[in-house]
Amino acid sequence: MLPVLPVVSPVLRRGYWLNRGPSGVAIMSSGEAGRQPSHTECGIMNNNDTLLALAHPLIALLLAAMFYGAWRYAHRQPQFLYFAAGFACYASGVCMQILLWPPWLLANIALTGVAFASAIFCFARGLTALEDRRLPWLPAVLVLAAMLVIRMASAHDEALFRLRVATTHIAAALVFLLALWQVRHMARGTALERLLFWCVAACSLSLFPRAMLATQPADRYGYEHSLYWEVTQTSFYFFGIGVAFLMLGLTSVRTIASLSQASRRDPLTGMNNRSGLGEFLAARLPLCGSYGLIMVDVDHFKRINDRYGHPVGDAVLKRLAAVMEQGIRTGDAVGRFGGEEFMVVLPEASEDETKRVAERLRAAAAAQDFSDIAPELQCTVSLGVGSFEPAVSFEQAYAAVDERLARAKRLGRNRVVGKEPGWAVRRSSGA
Ligand code: GH3
Ligand code: MG
Ligand code: MG
Repeated sequence: MLPVLPVVSPVLRRGYWLNRGPSGVAIMSSGEAGRQPSHTECGIMNNNDTLLALAHPLIALLLAAMFYGAWRYAHRQPQFLYFAAGFACYASGVCMQILLWPPWLLANIALTGVAFASAIFCFARGLTALEDRRLPWLPAVLVLAAMLVIRMASAHDEALFRLRVATTHIAAALVFLLALWQVRHMARGTALERLLFWCVAACSLSLFPRAMLATQPADRYGYEHSLYWEVTQTSFYFFGIGVAFLMLGLTSVRTIASLSQASRRDPLTGMNNRSGLGEFLAARLPLCGSYGLIMVDVDHFKRINDRYGHPVGDAVLKRLAAVMEQGIRTGDAVGRFGGEEFMVVLPEASEDETKRVAERLRAAAAAQDFSDIAPELQCTVSLGVGSFEPAVSFEQAYAAVDERLARAKRLGRNRVVGKEPGWAVRRSSGA
């Protein structure tokens, strides 16, 4: 036996006494409130049973610590904090019942009621927070307040003690169903989302028959040889731990997906960055007969920064990014390749098609009205373009369009330069 047992024996003895009822102190009548039970009532203390019963809140506490750690270190996801608080409140409520602390009946019933109500609210709020939804707090609080009132009203009446247990179950079921209604779209989501949704749904619905179990005659339950207690323990291990790990798994999968998405996005413009474009190229180029490449560079962008400031420069880049995204065809890709440079990839595009798209982009940029960003602000772009066979590596194609872009700059900017010597279209900036 564990060496700590002599120390905790008095507490466990009380726990054993407490375990004789469906929800601990529930079986005591008003006249018994606050009275310590006799040893005859206690029977032979069964430390193992009570220690076993404590494994359940201990696991809930470990889950609370795990969710708190996940909240601290994993992007402060609010659902983790709600679940940490939910498991901590649940563990406290169960511990208070098993160890009969505080020992006064009314105080125990009130405190365990508050602990269970808080746990129910936190779990429901955590589920809705996962989906960025709100939990309608008024109906939830009303249900939980009604539960607390019924618990307290039934505290002195031995005949009503089962009502207290059943009420707690039904309140939990109602609040969980309310939360599920708010996140009902999860039932049509990914496999993990559906699994979590239906696991919480099954847990909520199972609370109704479990409430019925609690209304069975008193000698049918208690912690020992009790169907009620066995079902409660099994449900905790099955649903509590199951939902906890599904919640962690789903949040992890979503976090990984969003980090991977973010690594492919340019934070300023929201469009592909070089890595996102690289991924598009790697996926599409091997399947292409040929591909067009356009390298776009903003003309005299340094002057814009110097004259209007970098925030205006940023706003210009965002506007130009939108112009690029609107100007390309479905199936093409555009990304911010460097500071004020953009790259457009056009699968299957011929030289002429590529030039046409490039010319359209140049004209759209030149025609943009930037006066809402800064008065008298004008901005043009230069473009180097080409169409390449799949045998030509991306590095070679990139070097070719970069050289053409440099030529466009040398020729006076605001123009498209392609493969043919002298193919350069000069337009007025307002064209
Ligand atoms: P050119 O017509 O020859 O391309 O001249 P340019 O001034 O556009 O080219 P240069 O390479 O001299 O300057 C590019 C400028 O772009 C310098 C850099 O400070 C600015 N820049 C790069 N990234 C950003 C950004 O994210 N925001 C802002 N506001 N400016 C940027
Ligand atoms: Mg540049
Ligand atoms: Mg430039």
